[in-house]
Amino acid sequence: MRALLLIASGVLLTGTACSNTVETTEPEGPLATAFRESAQQAGVPRDLLVATAWVQTRFQRPTEQEQDADGEHAPARVGLLGLPAGTEVADDPIAHIDAAARLLASLRAPDEKGDGLSSWRGALARYAAGDDLEAGELFANAVLSAAQDGVRAPAYTGEVLVIEGRGKRGSAKAQALVAGADSELVARYLPARSGHWHSGRSRAVDRVVIHTTEGSYDGAISWFRSAENPYQTSAHYVIRSSDGEITQMVREADTAYHARDWNSRAVGIEHEAISSNPAWFTEAMYRSSARLVRDICDRWGIPIDRQHIVGHVEVPGNDHSDPGRHWDWDYFMSLVQGPVDGSSPPPPPSTVDACDGLDYFGACDGAQLRWCENGALRSVDCGASGQVCGWQDDTVGNNCLAGDEPTPPPQEPPPQQDPPEQQDPEPPPADDPCQGIDYAGVCDGTDLVWCDAEVLRSYDCAVTGQVCGWQDDDVGNNCLAAPPEDPCNGETWLGRCDGDTLIWCADDTVRTAQCESCGWQDDSIGNNCL
Ligand SMILES: [Zn+2]
Repeated sequence: MRALLLIASGVLLTGTACSNTVETTEPEGPLATAFRESAQQAGVPRDLLVATAWVQTRFQRPTEQEQDADGEHAPARVGLLGLPAGTEVADDPIAHIDAAARLLASLRAPDEKGDGLSSWRGALARYAAGDDLEAGELFANAVLSAAQDGVRAPAYTGEVLVIEGRGKRGSAKAQALVAGADSELVARYLPARSGHWHSGRSRAVDRVVIHTTEGSYDGAISWFRSAENPYQTSAHYVIRSSDGEITQMVREADTAYHARDWNSRAVGIEHEAISSNPAWFTEAMYRSSARLVRDICDRWGIPIDRQHIVGHVEVPGNDHSDPGRHWDWDYFMSLVQGPVDGSSPPPPPSTVDACDGLDYFGACDGAQLRWCENGALRSVDCGASGQVCGWQDDTVGNNCLAGDEPTPPPQEPPPQQDPPEQQDPEPPPADDPCQGIDYAGVCDGTDLVWCDAEVLRSYDCAVTGQVCGWQDDDVGNNCLAAPPEDPCNGETWLGRCDGDTLIWCADDTVRTAQCESCGWQDDSIGNNCL
């Protein structure tokens, strides 16, 4: 995470005690204005609205999608925020932002009120996936993660949209083989709807077909599980763009409906991407997909070549063009063929370079900082926040750095101080942008508020199921594991069988899977679909 790049902005820190003393000097574009005003009017957190657009469209307008946006991969969605198809909105981005803000607000249940972003989890799930709560949860997690990690990326208009990062540090969860999955690489098994696949194969499995979703990760997953999907499509796997996470939906031994005449012989893999936009095709997704394809080929004895690993566009009798021209076949095949232990990774793709030769370390052009992140070219004008562009260190590379000139104090005192929020008996010095809060920070309920490089940051620990509290003298306050509660109500990882339904607890969530036969596998997996 490029945490120190983030720039103080009063607009982006609303809801914290000191926000109204931080001057916003970065000029706001028309999209940013629309996000701010629509969010305010609808009572939706601004960052949540921007993160929704990021997760749905990567800030692009899906008005000129390829022909594959026909509803077989993912449900049709309209506009910058991926509104449900059929939503009556003028063809105007401002109207779309406003409609999305009002829709999100209307989807919040009365018992979900609260200040933290996580109190919007239910509304986000319903926004994305209607009544498919498991797919909706994926969408909510993606939006909340984007709001916490921060996003800085150009929209289709060229305007750069920004979400400040909130996270102090992340925590990696250990992977375990998911019940029902064919591969250890799978993060979860969510079975596709009955009727979208059938049991068994009518011929030997000898092909892998590469698809793009032409919509979001959760959108494709919920579509394959939806009675509303008239094509009754599915795929064996869906892979997420941001981090390569894999969801399995159909067992490889069963026939998924994704490639017509080749369904019986092929394993289908959907990649989260709108194929006209190269920003979706991340390094993380390529690597995760390549490991999965290698694993499939090894287990089924499929030759690793372009006759056996093909795009949907290459399947006879199909009228699709995915994965499209931005899918780098040479690079992908080199990853599939290369060593799976990662000891000598092949060079990155040379044919498609959305970053114009720039790497993560980036380059300074005057006060303009440009760098490459997740395959997308990013840029920011450091001068807009009174900073200069320069070399920070070997980890971050070039970055926005404090300039030589001291930041002038605010011209006017903040219009409204909130006395109950004020912890300090002494008024803080006027030139302290964090108003006396230091790196150790303070806890306000589950909100962690701290100062990092003269920028006030906040993070709602409840979003990751944690609480705010004192860690140690080095870190100060931080998000900590919640006191032992049992979110799974007695269900365990080893799980149990209820008839042929497998019920178990993973990542503090109760999971279920419909098995053909549920029973005890071994002491490390416990009960499983057998
Ligand atoms: Zn396809």
